[in-house]
Amino acid sequence: MRQADTTIFALSSGSVPAGVAVIRLSGSQSRFAIETFLKQAYPSPRQSTLCNLYHPVDKSLLDQVILLSFPAPASFTGEDVVEIHCHGSRAVVAILLDCLSQIPGVRAAEPGEFSRRAFENGKLDLTAVEGLGDLIHADTEVQRRQAVVQMAGGLEKIYSTWRADIVRMRALIEADLDFADEEDVPSDVTDGLFDEIRNLSAEINRHITQGEIGERIRDGVRIALVGAPNVGKSSLLNALAKRDVAIVTDQPGTTRDVIEVQLDLRGYPVSVFDTAGLRETTDLVEQEGIRRSTVEAVRADLVVALTDHKGTSVDDELARLQTDAEIIKAQNKTDLIESAQKQKSDGSLLFSARTGEGLGDLIDELSERVARLCGDGKSESAVWTRQRHKSLLLEVRDALDMALASTDLGVELVAEHLRQAGDSLGKLVGVIDVDDLLDVIFREFCIGK
Ligand code: GDP
Repeated sequence: MRQADTTIFALSSGSVPAGVAVIRLSGSQSRFAIETFLKQAYPSPRQSTLCNLYHPVDKSLLDQVILLSFPAPASFTGEDVVEIHCHGSRAVVAILLDCLSQIPGVRAAEPGEFSRRAFENGKLDLTAVEGLGDLIHADTEVQRRQAVVQMAGGLEKIYSTWRADIVRMRALIEADLDFADEEDVPSDVTDGLFDEIRNLSAEINRHITQGEIGERIRDGVRIALVGAPNVGKSSLLNALAKRDVAIVTDQPGTTRDVIEVQLDLRGYPVSVFDTAGLRETTDLVEQEGIRRSTVEAVRADLVVALTDHKGTSVDDELARLQTDAEIIKAQNKTDLIESAQKQKSDGSLLFSARTGEGLGDLIDELSERVARLCGDGKSESAVWTRQRHKSLLLEVRDALDMALASTDLGVELVAEHLRQAGDSLGKLVGVIDVDDLLDVIFREFCIGK
């Protein structure tokens, strides 16, 4: 059976029990499937209607529900869609799902299958689908804001405009090719064109650089806690997790491995890595821990370089890491420092993970830096958010630059590079050649979406 002929259903709301649960159906059999439960007329489109649902075989009353129907094509998937708003008990949901699965041509949906149908029916472009996935998984306010812009077509608008520009440029070149023998189509058509290509390449380049922010917001700003063993890295991580910030997930490794905690730091998503203490060691397991710590620290956006009351310098370790990350220096265990000595600090933020003294200031500093790394969360225009976007954008820019570099080699070659640039933009929004990608993208979705 072709996919378009199967009707799918799933529990689209959260886990049961709950006050209300929403079961959604999509496909040409949706209406027929619902009518097997009804003794009354099928509800009018888009009007919430109170209905009794009866068992299709023994006709016993199953539940009293609200039905909402969205006939094709004016629905989320572009197909006939029905939502059953039933009571959210395990038993009600179980019997309804079971009865639905008995209906010929109707089956349980796979993860992301509703969104996939929406994409295949042209209701959403690929970047909007990705935005929708990110919105469902958004943990913090800044992530929500970014995802909702992308879901609403923020990226699609930009990429489609660029694609249309490129199509127009190609058309101009092809006209130039067709009329090449005629005196009256001068090549100043193409002269102006090269300026346009150059400007577009520069604009795409700016967009590529800006997007580091988008990826950071989507995946979280990476903060590595670095310092010698026992300066208090784990204690700081615990203190951060308990104060002002909410733990999202906690993925401990072995004691000598890297521990990552995802936190919501005043609306910004951060991943804090408590790295194994950096020091010379002959212990093989510890060496591996240090190697992993080094990798995390080098990949970090922000490094908190910690010392303790002894004030041993971390400068050598930082130099060895050769990281481009921003650095915040902090000195822990101030409760062990005489107050007269506290004044002598080298600009490090002083705090005590044990007493909490100075911790507020450290969190303020961290939050400010994180906000800055995320463009203060105020970016008006949509930014790319995934490596998939970045690599295709680089392809577009490179193809445009190749087009510019080919000017002396003939306009045919310029046209060919423009075609490649247009195709890469087509892959970004999903109108060209993305079949192999779809499984990966939709797998990230939950069932019912
Ligand atoms: P790590 O090896 O860098 O992760 O250090 P830990 O967080 O495990 O801390 C090492 C030791 O220092 C532990 O015994 C902590 O209780 C202690 N410690 C951590 N922070 C403070 C502090 O602010 N004051 C004092 N007095 N001890 C602390």
